[in-house]
Amino acid sequence: MKCAGTIDVRDVDESCINIDPIQVGGRLTADAMKAIIAYGDGYSVCDQCRKPFRLDYIKTPPVDIFHRDLASFVNMDIARVVPGARRGFQAVADALITKGDPVLITALSHYTEVLAIEGRGGVIREIPKTEQNIIIADAAALKIEEVIKEFGRPPILLFLDHFDYQYGNCHDVREISKVAHQYDIPVLYNGAYTVGIMGVDGKALGADFVVGSGHKSMAAPAPSGMLATTAEWAERVFRTTAAKTDVTGRTFGVKEIGMMGCTLMGVTLVGMMASFPHVRERVKRWEQELANGQKVVDALLSVEGTIVRSEHPRKHTLTRVDTSGSFDRVAQTHKKRGFFFTSALKEKGIAGIIPGATKVWKFNTYGMTDSQAEYLASAFRDIARKNGLTVAD
Ligand SMILES: *Cc1c(COP(=O)(O)O)cnc(C)c1O
Repeated sequence: MKCAGTIDVRDVDESCINIDPIQVGGRLTADAMKAIIAYGDGYSVCDQCRKPFRLDYIKTPPVDIFHRDLASFVNMDIARVVPGARRGFQAVADALITKGDPVLITALSHYTEVLAIEGRGGVIREIPKTEQNIIIADAAALKIEEVIKEFGRPPILLFLDHFDYQYGNCHDVREISKVAHQYDIPVLYNGAYTVGIMGVDGKALGADFVVGSGHKSMAAPAPSGMLATTAEWAERVFRTTAAKTDVTGRTFGVKEIGMMGCTLMGVTLVGMMASFPHVRERVKRWEQELANGQKVVDALLSVEGTIVRSEHPRKHTLTRVDTSGSFDRVAQTHKKRGFFFTSALKEKGIAGIIPGATKVWKFNTYGMTDSQAEYLASAFRDIARKNGLTVAD
């Protein structure tokens, strides 16, 4: 079946249990689906845009209120919508970094942080991880001291992922922020895997900037996201234009340079807004989400030879497993080779794992019902048993 022309219908989430780490938190709510049909046209939210002509002042639909709600959702002072978490990083990097400035990230940072810094000519330094793949405050303090020795000044900014994309491990943002603030280093809290799926209190965490991803964790269309900050930093990051053109003498009011005036002007914003009431509710159910994830992790651990590479017990629904000693052993002699595993999962209606992966892979149980989690857990056990692996009860 086709949507149009050569474009296939996409029904992954209707026909399967999807465990793709990057997709599960971004799936639209029914309300978002309805809203985006109505607002699909370009610049659709601009119908009622009036003076002073900026996105966050629009009253119909209530874009203005949504901006205030977003800020309070993460307990910060001011928020803006941005086209993806990466554009939030970029806006902060553009405002704070000049060429040659040292900037701290971590050994588990996302590549988009690197690009944001690189784009400004910042010099990247990484806080190393522990053997358990955790970023700790002591390592941050040590790295800051190293940077001071190397550059004669502390880093200009610290990017910190609360939960990293590789292991879904939790990193002690509060303690690391405390250390950073002792050196007056502002902290950018990367909540790509938190904002919209669990409660985030930016101020309590010591964040100067909170960045979230709409399409990863807020049930919104891509590209969408948010950048929130304190009153103190807002002036710099959301600075308005002061330009006056030479020939026509034009000025441009309150347009924000870092936001390129306006950011999300149609489906993305309206999708985010329509999902937001659901998102605000769902973060309260994080403990249940963790319990479901743990069920699946326990099932995988019951398969002899399987190792969970993420911290244990799990604090996130994204988990990295190493099945080199189990499913990959089967792959060595199976007629389908490495594809036996994902194809067995597909037969059971489970999608979202990279085809052919049998050694190290990731999955995310976010958004499942209890019975889906149980089904997934038993599916892993079944596939193991069927292929001659020992499964503990
Ligand atoms: C996915 C991800 C990003 C990028 O988010 P976008 O909204 O797609 O820009 C950044 N950081 C982390 C840790 C991520 O997992």
